[in-house]
Amino acid sequence: MKIHEYQSKALMSQYGISVPRSNLATKPEEAQLFALDLGKKVVVKAQVYAGGRGKAGGIKIADTPDDARDCAQQLLGKRLVTHQTGPEGVPVHKVLIEEALNIDRELYLSIMTDTSHRKPVIIASSFGGMDIEEVARVNPEKIIKEYIDPALGFWPYIGTRLAYKLGLKQYKVRPFANLLTNLYHLYMDKDCSLAEINPLVVTAAGNLVALDAKLTFDDNALFRHTDIAQMLDTQQEDVLEVEARQLGVQNYIKLDGNIGCLVNGAGLAMAVLDLINQAGGKPANFLDIGTVNNTARVVNAFKIFSKDPDVKAILVNIFGGMARVDVIAKGIKEACETMNIRLPLVIRLAGTNVEEGKKILKDSDVHYIEATGFLDAAQKAVQAAKGAAL
Ligand code: ADP
Ligand code: MG
Repeated sequence: MKIHEYQSKALMSQYGISVPRSNLATKPEEAQLFALDLGKKVVVKAQVYAGGRGKAGGIKIADTPDDARDCAQQLLGKRLVTHQTGPEGVPVHKVLIEEALNIDRELYLSIMTDTSHRKPVIIASSFGGMDIEEVARVNPEKIIKEYIDPALGFWPYIGTRLAYKLGLKQYKVRPFANLLTNLYHLYMDKDCSLAEINPLVVTAAGNLVALDAKLTFDDNALFRHTDIAQMLDTQQEDVLEVEARQLGVQNYIKLDGNIGCLVNGAGLAMAVLDLINQAGGKPANFLDIGTVNNTARVVNAFKIFSKDPDVKAILVNIFGGMARVDVIAKGIKEACETMNIRLPLVIRLAGTNVEEGKKILKDSDVHYIEATGFLDAAQKAVQAAKGAAL
């Protein structure tokens, strides 16, 4: 789960990390007042669930309170398109009015879970700022990594070593080590999947300040952090993804193609997306109904398809293990009978109770194209979508 920059900064501040003085505005007049309060040049920052705001015009410098009002006016109520959003962008409902700092150096600092090493990793670079992906591509030697052994935990010497590697002046070494220790505790306490400060700046006055802040959380641990779960801003998310979650279709991600995919198991779902691409088509979503032995989740998945105008054909690919194919077939039948689905439907079924499942569909009024194998299913779905799009 993501949260906004202002929320991430509030959490970091609770953990003793310095952040600039700021205030959150939802109206241009508030922006003006807060800028007046801060009494100096401010930065007006669009609060959206996406990075790359600076380059996309979502970060504006305002010399006077009147400028701050105008900048807020330009951002509020609009959609911001950055390289991390789709072409439709994300809505800006809040702007952070923040004191502008005099920056001496911009560093990069983050902690994330490296799943291949099964450890948290600290990533730092003296080339901080807006383009860390570019640094990783062009100057990979400028990216410093320190793995944390979960059995040993975090030790302050790791921060000290990193500070030297970053070329920080002697008097900044201890403050940097302290800041990293605080960030690590925040990362662990709140079950983060990412804690990123980009840029972490050294100000002209010599202080280390988190100028940007991004925290994301492990969804599986959110039940332990109801305060954080409440911070979710559903307006930043895809409408159908929010609805899918409410309907209990947990693993649904909207994509930009036109073939709606209903699959059980994340691995199988990924394989289906690959095969659709291989067959020359594009999936409209990732959807894993998981291991269920009730019809409701299947029906709800069809509900999501019916609300997505991009979906031109539906591909069901089920391999029944613990989940029974006959139950899923009943779900498909129920969905088609209750929802008047007019889209071409390609179905490939295999596994537990497959014969019973096929019989349920054959004996029903459901119109569908039967597929036998993986690739066959993908090819038929791509054909069907092309036909339907004509
Ligand atoms: P994003 O990463 O989404 O582009 P940032 O918050 O990192 O947004 O801001 C982009 C750039 O804007 C920063 O690298 C920094 O140069 C500048 N900036 C952001 N906030 C401030 C601030 N409070 N004072 C001065 N410059 C800032
Ligand atoms: Mg940034």
